[in-house]
Amino acid sequence: MLHGVRLAHQKNTAQSSTVILPTPKRVTLPMRQHLGVPCQCTVSPGEAVGRGQPVGQCPNEASFCSPVHASVSGTVKSIETIDDPWGGQCEAVVIDSDGKQTPWDGLAKPSVASREEFITAVKNSGAVGLGGAGFPTWVKLNLKNGQRAELLLVNAAECEPYITSDYREMLENTDDIEAGIQAVKTWLGIPRVIVAIEDNKPEAIERMRQRATGTNAFEVFSLKSRYPRGAEKVVLHDAAGLVIPEGKLPIDVGALVMNVATVGFLGRYLRTGMPLVSRRVTVDGGAVCKPQNLLVPIGTPLSALADFCQVDSKAARMAIMGGPMMGVAVESLDQPVLKNNNAVLFFDEKQARLPETTLCIRCGKCLAVCPVRLAPAALERAYEAQDPDRLRRLKVNLCIECGCCAYVCPARRPLVQANRASKALIKNKR
Ligand code: SF4
Ligand code: SF4
Repeated sequence: MLHGVRLAHQKNTAQSSTVILPTPKRVTLPMRQHLGVPCQCTVSPGEAVGRGQPVGQCPNEASFCSPVHASVSGTVKSIETIDDPWGGQCEAVVIDSDGKQTPWDGLAKPSVASREEFITAVKNSGAVGLGGAGFPTWVKLNLKNGQRAELLLVNAAECEPYITSDYREMLENTDDIEAGIQAVKTWLGIPRVIVAIEDNKPEAIERMRQRATGTNAFEVFSLKSRYPRGAEKVVLHDAAGLVIPEGKLPIDVGALVMNVATVGFLGRYLRTGMPLVSRRVTVDGGAVCKPQNLLVPIGTPLSALADFCQVDSKAARMAIMGGPMMGVAVESLDQPVLKNNNAVLFFDEKQARLPETTLCIRCGKCLAVCPVRLAPAALERAYEAQDPDRLRRLKVNLCIECGCCAYVCPARRPLVQANRASKALIKNKR
């Protein structure tokens, strides 16, 4: 796959070790931080909670869902309804921290002696795809009858500019990544593991290759750096030569794809029993005086990250959760860090300025870069005509919202936004 674009990497925080953010005074824990149905709250206002205590559980055993845990010790202040990042609303548990970070009494290292117990442990850990997808990890690993994974692809491409959280995971938590790989490999009986890393991260490639030597647990594949190498379909093709047919999943071609930070978290969880209560977040952008990677309790308001990294409030014009290509602008810095937030960018005037849009000149540049071979200009016209049948024929649902088309468009057409809106249009018609 040669489509995609070359971007300035801007990995300004790559060489700075992760710093632990001081415990926030309050956290807000939405019951939906994953693809799927929301959790149900299991605590009430006034209740004391320990760090790692479940505060939201899946509605039932089979729910497409991932439990939520208290990221600080303290007292439940309230249960509130908030907007969730998937465009709906959900309940959220608000906890006032006591500053002590006392672990929950019920914490225990999971005991795993079978595949079923492994899946249960992964579910109890609250793990979701930490690279941004938010897919419940236990659902991905819970293979159905007849499904078999021949390959585990650990995605460490991290191809969006600015973001270095996966890179720091590889340098700082190599042991956990290896333990996570061994666990998934053993309990799912997967014969081959590839860790795919872009070649703009030579230190990480070297570190992981050193670790792979002698263990035979995995191979390291160096990907040519080009955005969006980290997209699931692209990385599977480039690192393993596998092509996922339209409408199918990686498991349909015998592969599982997991983000490297998710694998590292699983390794840590199996060692400590502490569920997903914190994560590494890259804070960067033109308005940030001290760009760095922070280890942040889930549910911390973005304002706490902005204060710690000395965001110049006079210069800041826009905050984005995620990278500049696929991230979403946030409306308020009260918004909490979620499980799948790998970066927060604070852009200054120059970075935030929206270019003036002109008419499409039919240059075809958008067509040339699309990694899934869509026709973005035609899709935009079909959206403008509000024509769901044409949008379906043009396969808008295959769009991975990578932003390559909009990036190269000389007319600065809002092509990604049109595709997002088109998907909603089709869903509503259905
Ligand atoms: S790149 Fe922009 S101007 Fe060129 S065809 Fe696509 S939408 Fe039109
Ligand atoms: S149409 Fe979708 S997948 Fe193709 S380049 Fe644009 S955003 Fe990426």
